[in-house]
Amino acid sequence: MHVIIIGSGIAGVSFAEKFRSYSADDEITLITRENDGYYSRPLLSRGFSMNDIEQSIILKTFDKLRASGINIISGAEITAINRSDKTVTITGSSQEKSLHFDKLVIATGSSAFIPPPFRPYSELFFCLNSLVDLKALRKFRLGLLNQNRQPDWAIIGGGLIGCEVASDLAFSGDNVTLFHAMDRLMERQLVAEDSALLFDVLQNSGVKVLLDQNVQGFAKQENKVCVKTGVTTEFDALIVSCGFKPRTELAEQAGLEVGRGIKVNQYMQTSDEDIYALGDVAELPNGKLYAFILPIRSQAHWLASFLAGHEKECWTPPVFSTKAKVHGFEAVHPYNI
Ligand SMILES: Cc1cc2nc3c(=O)[nH]c(=O)nc-3n(C[C@H](O)[C@H](O)[C@H](O)COP(=O)(O)OP(=O)(O)OC[C@H]3O[C@@H](n4cnc5c(N)ncnc54)[C@H](O)[C@@H]3O)c2cc1C
Repeated sequence: MHVIIIGSGIAGVSFAEKFRSYSADDEITLITRENDGYYSRPLLSRGFSMNDIEQSIILKTFDKLRASGINIISGAEITAINRSDKTVTITGSSQEKSLHFDKLVIATGSSAFIPPPFRPYSELFFCLNSLVDLKALRKFRLGLLNQNRQPDWAIIGGGLIGCEVASDLAFSGDNVTLFHAMDRLMERQLVAEDSALLFDVLQNSGVKVLLDQNVQGFAKQENKVCVKTGVTTEFDALIVSCGFKPRTELAEQAGLEVGRGIKVNQYMQTSDEDIYALGDVAELPNGKLYAFILPIRSQAHWLASFLAGHEKECWTPPVFSTKAKVHGFEAVHPYNI
């Protein structure tokens, strides 16, 4: 059997390694856009306070994964899933243009969600969703530091990632203003008491937190960028952090059932019985996306065991809670997703 996996995040890599451990004979090919290796996405939000982050974030090189018996095609993109002949189309790879699969695992993750009013200004802001994004942000920041200027940032969005990034930049000595649309921070995850505590921790660390903000758009003025709310405020740079969007395009083009994510049953199986989806991109029958490390690793290990014939019961989500990696903040009430 030839199993193809699309994506080298925790979903794709955890599945590939576990399946390899169960099955010595099946061929496993993982295809990914990435060039830098398998890295820890959660560590991105500590990307400014850790000097060696660009190396320490790498969990495994692709050569190490190859040495464990997984074919890796890196720096390549799957541009189509062809269900009639069970092939995937690959671009950007010198090795293969098309590959046949017996089973396909879509683990394409998610990109940053950009609210429609901000989309015309995509040249004016950064996001922090991948290692490529982090490297671009660090390069920009270093440019200012080398001119003896402490960067002045605006972060748009006071959810989990916006708060973490604001905290890490302030911790690293930068000036940070956080714009949030709602009347309290991380309102989806935290009870009001913890939102208030988080507000105090961020303000005390030097982040200027602005709640109830209606950000209408951005503008460029010489070497500054402006945030427009009713008033216009200038910054060196902006980071938009308004949630995530599952990468469902390939599945949609292939005619698979798609909602917010790629729809799967409790066996992580899409509307095609030979195609599975895992991780940020998978939407379970209860309508949930389990976009956190712990449940994703659980999905990936479960699917490996199921395809190897060891597991008979369907996947059930583990009980888990998550933490905001804001320096000096510990929620009083744990929050479940
Ligand atoms: C800044 C940040 C901080 C976070 N902190 C935490 C935390 O503290 N705790 C926690 O539990 N979770 C955290 N998360 C969420 C967690 O990191 C994600 O849920 C998880 O990484 C998703 O893994 P994934 O494998 O599904 O997708 P991804 O990590 O997005 O991997 C998808 C991969 O697929 C590749 N790909 C996509 N399309 C194609 C294609 N067409 N062809 C080839 N390759 C393709 C991408 O390049 C990528 O390598 C954080 C996320 C971010 C962005």
